[in-house]
Amino acid sequence: MGVRSEARTVFRPDGSIRSRQRAPQIQTSWPLIYSTLKASFGDAQYHRGKRLVRVAQDAAGVTAFFEDGSRETGDLLIGADGGNSTVRSLLWPDLQPGYAGYLAWRGLVPENAMPPAARAALHGDFGFASNTGSHILGYLVPGDGNDIRPGHRLYNWVWYRVADARQLQDIMTDRDGVARGYSVPEGKLADRWAGHLHGDAARLLPLPFRQIVAATQRPFAQAIRDLAASQMVKGRVLLLGDAAAIPRPHTAASTSKAAANALDLADQLAAAPGDIAGALARWEIPQVAYGKQLERQGREAGDHLLFHARPASATG
Ligand SMILES: Cc1cc2nc3c(=O)[nH]c(=O)nc-3n(C[C@H](O)[C@H](O)[C@H](O)COP(=O)(O)OP(=O)(O)OC[C@H]3O[C@@H](n4cnc5c(N)ncnc54)[C@H](O)[C@@H]3O)c2cc1C
Repeated sequence: MGVRSEARTVFRPDGSIRSRQRAPQIQTSWPLIYSTLKASFGDAQYHRGKRLVRVAQDAAGVTAFFEDGSRETGDLLIGADGGNSTVRSLLWPDLQPGYAGYLAWRGLVPENAMPPAARAALHGDFGFASNTGSHILGYLVPGDGNDIRPGHRLYNWVWYRVADARQLQDIMTDRDGVARGYSVPEGKLADRWAGHLHGDAARLLPLPFRQIVAATQRPFAQAIRDLAASQMVKGRVLLLGDAAAIPRPHTAASTSKAAANALDLADQLAAAPGDIAGALARWEIPQVAYGKQLERQGREAGDHLLFHARPASATG
């Protein structure tokens, strides 16, 4: 399910090593998880190109209405549609993620194209480096077609940088002038921001990371946001995964939260045949608490890394 790294190495801004600890772990990727789950779900019930525009419900069930005029009725509507959830915006219009004050610049470099100092220092490990308003990390992930063979993998880096709301808006306006909100995909970043990224890298990053950023042909960007719903169920409609709670990525636990939400939902429904309302009530309370706990953990870690804030939990 991914690529193994052996050690965690933390670099100082001058490139010297602050610490190196053996800590084997597996790094995977969104496409590998997605295609594995999709293969077991099959195509028959997976309908692409449908745009949900309205939801209506009563005590017996829920109907989803689509832009093409079609509709589907069922026992439940599960909004597992990510951080920009349409289901959330239709049923919980006031529940909006908040901007954390920093973004993630990101990039992927074929492992065989890693420049020499980057390859020597970073390849095969989980690397980190912090500076003022700057925190970067990187590791190998599966390559094109989910290829995990040595030589076919990608080096993935994520560089968190403080940016105010005005800067964010400018960064998220892509090379064609389209305002993309909270993420700019590969190939769409405006040239001036790619130039800015390289300038900042030269100023703030140790040589191996500087080289890897410079070797990235199509950097992309995502705003870091906070969200933790106090309610995940409204009648026969529910939210799970990032639709309900977006912990900052420092927790590295959001995907397992989405899976835990889904697995517990299945368990609660199976344990109470015919009692959907009861199953949802039992499901919701611990899932809301889990989302809030991770959101708090992510906020504390991120504020500490980017703004050098002391975690509230550390003050006793
Ligand atoms: C920089 C960064 C680093 C991260 N690192 C990690 C990490 O190390 N570990 C970790 O666990 N998590 C990490 N995450 C978070 C992780 O990616 C998410 O928590 C996870 O993908 C959430 O899964 P999800 O299924 O809820 O939503 P998503 O993965 O966003 O999936 C939502 C799906 O719904 C689809 N969709 C959206 N709208 C609609 C619609 N209207 N109709 C139909 N379908 C729709 C989308 O196409 C997508 O397939 C990171 C996130 C960021 C931004």
